[in-house]
Amino acid sequence: MSEPRVEIDRDACIGAGNCVRYAPQAFDLDDDDIAIVLEPGSEPPEALRRAEQGCPSGAIFVTTESQ
Ligand code: SF4
Repeated sequence: MSEPRVEIDRDACIGAGNCVRYAPQAFDLDDDDIAIVLEPGSEPPEALRRAEQGCPSGAIFVTTESQ
């Protein structure tokens, strides 16, 4: 199984931190409170999907094999 791909539109991110709550091993906030990608393969795909859908600014794009 290949790694899920996760991209963040850092210009759109408003630093709400929902993604970190949903998938703490896949996301973190940097010093400017903008999201960065850590290790998306460490989270189940459902958690990545929840983060994608829970982002208030639609800044997360997840691609998994199950699509
Ligand atoms: S949920 Fe969206 S807006 Fe909030 S920190 Fe994550 S990427 Fe940024």
